Amino acid sequence: MISFQMSKEQRKQVSLVRQLAQEEIAPLALEMDQAQGDFNWHYIDVLAKHNLIAPIIPLEYGGRGLDCLTIAMFIEEIAVACAGLAAAMVGTMHAVLPIIIGGTEEQKEKFLPLLTGKQAALASFALTEPQGGSDIEILQTTADFRENVFLLNGVKDYVINGAVAKFVTVCANSNPAAKRAFQFFFVSSDQIKVNLVRNTMGIKYANTAQIAIDNVKLDKQYAIGERDSGYLLLTHTLDIGRTLIAAIEVGIARAAYQLVLQYARERQQFGRPIFSNQGVSFPLAAMATSIDAARLMVWRACDLIDKEEDFTQASSMAKMYASEVAQHVTAGAIDIIGAAAYDTNHIANVYFRDAKVCSIVGGTNNIQKMIISSLL
Ligand SMILES: Cc1cc2nc3c(=O)[nH]c(=O)nc-3n(C[C@H](O)[C@H](O)[C@H](O)COP(=O)(O)OP(=O)(O)OC[C@H]3O[C@@H](n4cnc5c(N)ncnc54)[C@H](O)[C@@H]3O)c2cc1C
Repeated sequence: MISFQMSKEQRKQVSLVRQLAQEEIAPLALEMDQAQGDFNWHYIDVLAKHNLIAPIIPLEYGGRGLDCLTIAMFIEEIAVACAGLAAAMVGTMHAVLPIIIGGTEEQKEKFLPLLTGKQAALASFALTEPQGGSDIEILQTTADFRENVFLLNGVKDYVINGAVAKFVTVCANSNPAAKRAFQFFFVSSDQIKVNLVRNTMGIKYANTAQIAIDNVKLDKQYAIGERDSGYLLLTHTLDIGRTLIAAIEVGIARAAYQLVLQYARERQQFGRPIFSNQGVSFPLAAMATSIDAARLMVWRACDLIDKEEDFTQASSMAKMYASEVAQHVTAGAIDIIGAAAYDTNHIANVYFRDAKVCSIVGGTNNIQKMIISSLL
């Protein structure tokens, strides 16, 4: 049976996260937009206090063991308050997914509790390299296995939490002679070098860095999953991750919509609220409709993930559609607010810049179209 209702428990938990996000995070969103280069742990502490950094981690490893649907609802609430903070959360969840899905019991017990409880810690997922992000088959980071030890070398770029993570889950090519012979590795932050922190256009709170992995020696216990068999683990991680990114996109769109709706009701021109013009109220009606549709697509993908049914296409559809909605709604919000929103210090301007990343991160919209069309 299909239900469009949150359960009582979900309603309670989501309302707590909404309150936390609105009271402790949203008031600081503009400040966080300017926080780049100077990572402020206060906001991560706020999440850690509620064990919210990676709620996907199972209970037995100290996490909250939540289903994907509830996590998506949480992410939407955090993203309404600050998309950069939601991106730091989702980056961390990308990092733990290969461990949750493909790690040994010993690895889960050792690595996952590093991010749970009340300690404030983040992790990174490092796949993209300077030569490209879409064509994952040309990975140049290598993991050479000799004398019972892996030797890792490579450069990873645009890594969220890259300079502030406790550990990085690195995807490397473990057999350059074979196609798609990948493996994931747990690499501690003291083993990587931060080449640079990117000055990104949006989601500025999320520390985004280029990192170098130079001759890092790793014992077998740090290799996740079967040797050379990480491709499926990678696609599975990316597919789940896309749904979580889509939830951020819905959150950004909702933040812009709520802001502009209130503005349109208050702003007077020609002696009446601008909302009384259909030229303003109709775009708002379209925004409300598209946000609803995007959210339902995210929930459907989550529902499929939680039921362990085939979710790849639904996840790509949700991610692609929600990214278009986020960009459209945030651009429309700037149109309705006018000049004030053109100031980079206006929160609508932050939403607009935040939304732009949605059609790139986690696979561009063209890549989503490739995935969707391959499954038609
Ligand atoms: C803020 C930010 C945070 C990020 N965080 C992370 C992270 O934490 N970890 C991580 O590993 N990566 C991360 N990324 C990288 C992101 O996943 C990649 O940027 C993305 O996959 C696209 O890769 P690219 O930028 O190299 O573009 P390219 O792959 O070079 O693509 C360039 C253009 O060509 C198009 N294109 C490429 N191939 C095709 C094709 N076959 N058909 C049609 N069009 C095509 C693309 O759609 C795109 O428009 C992040 C990126 C950003 C901007």
